Amino acid sequence: MDTQDITRPNDLESFWMPFTANRQFKKNPRMLVEAEGMYYTTADNRRILDGTAGLWCVNAGHRREKIVKAIQKQAEKLDYAPSFQMGHPLSFELASRLTTLTPGYDRVFFTGGGSESVDTALKMAIAYHRVRGEGTRTRLIGRERGYHGVGFGGISVGGIVSNRKFFGSLLPGVDHLPHTHNPEKQAFTRGIPEWGGHLADDLERIVTLHDASNIAAVIVEPVAGSTGVLIPPQGYLQKLRSICDKHGILLIFDEVITGFGRLGASFATEYFGVKPDLITTAKGLTNGCVPMGAVFAREGIYDTFMNNAPEGTIELFHGYTYSGHPLAAAAGLATLDVYKEEGLFERAAELAPYWEDAVHSLKGVGPVIDLRNLGIIAGIELEGIPGKPTARAMEAFTKAYDKGLLIRTTGDIIALSPPLILEKSHIDDMFGMLGDVLKTLH
Ligand code: PLP
Repeated sequence: MDTQDITRPNDLESFWMPFTANRQFKKNPRMLVEAEGMYYTTADNRRILDGTAGLWCVNAGHRREKIVKAIQKQAEKLDYAPSFQMGHPLSFELASRLTTLTPGYDRVFFTGGGSESVDTALKMAIAYHRVRGEGTRTRLIGRERGYHGVGFGGISVGGIVSNRKFFGSLLPGVDHLPHTHNPEKQAFTRGIPEWGGHLADDLERIVTLHDASNIAAVIVEPVAGSTGVLIPPQGYLQKLRSICDKHGILLIFDEVITGFGRLGASFATEYFGVKPDLITTAKGLTNGCVPMGAVFAREGIYDTFMNNAPEGTIELFHGYTYSGHPLAAAAGLATLDVYKEEGLFERAAELAPYWEDAVHSLKGVGPVIDLRNLGIIAGIELEGIPGKPTARAMEAFTKAYDKGLLIRTTGDIIALSPPLILEKSHIDDMFGMLGDVLKTLH
């Protein structure tokens, strides 16, 4: 049998699954075998509406012909080529195309995914200061409830307790801003909360504590996704930018989920009108088809590296075997074509008000205690069962899956982020199914 035709593997034990309750899953596996457009098909031949674009990545919907063909063609021509002291045309072409997406960013560094993009950006920031002659700037500032992937750099600047619990004290030289979520002030806000912009001022406290001459960069997700869809308050990102400018600190936006149209603009930087120095991306870059990430550097950063090292030396001592992989580059180029040809970023912007109404139609339904939205993202917070955190959201997850809807949960929060090709009818179906599920929760 062709290995691709296996729908029911004999052995579920060998695969140690990531971010999964392995024993629970293996007793009752949820196996996806096909996908097209807005839907997955399961091994028992049921259609599942994809409310999460896979893991926030399949922004143009599943199995898009143009992308599939581009990957096939590339695999037949050049399967792999190194990017260390060598090149192949598509990675250059993709980098060039990416710099046209948002003005002010003229260089792109390729990685294998979001976690690698984050570690790359943090290293770039530290090295940037060093080559400019400010080598004492090594401290990194993250934020509580931040998620920046799973590398040691990312989990250190991130603000997730389980990482500290399981992996120890992490990188030294890291501080955290407070997170911006306050249900008392913000519950059921449509879009951007009015309260909370002042929380950016905490950066001044950290600068006073350590002195700016020791601080390399601040990293935040413009919209925190993985810790439960936390929308930045009015003026917050602008304030972070101006404090960073005042003290010569680099600002990094982790746009792994907000990039490539999710908010109805190419990137969150465009949506909010705030320009960080570095932007980390992944996921929607290749529509999730082939793993790839990218760091965008604002004008001047690359030049600083070039101008401070003799020609013939490696200017940034960093890179990955799969940086600029030919199949990923082919997928990325085709993905950008699809986004453009179908106007998917604009489409997301047009649908956002309808989406917002649908999200907030869940007010008062079952155990819902908060609803949040921006672009085509929703956070639906449930009242947890005392003593059993996550149990209620997990029940919603399995019940939604049985009903034909894929949702994602974190703690007792449901996050939705469907492909941007969705129609109003998909939104109606999604919230119809979810509303029914929420009413049945224990
Ligand atoms: N950064 C953010 C903001 C993310 O949401 C994610 C993944 O969800 C990552 C980084 C890590 O990306 P990856 O899983 O591709 O390493």
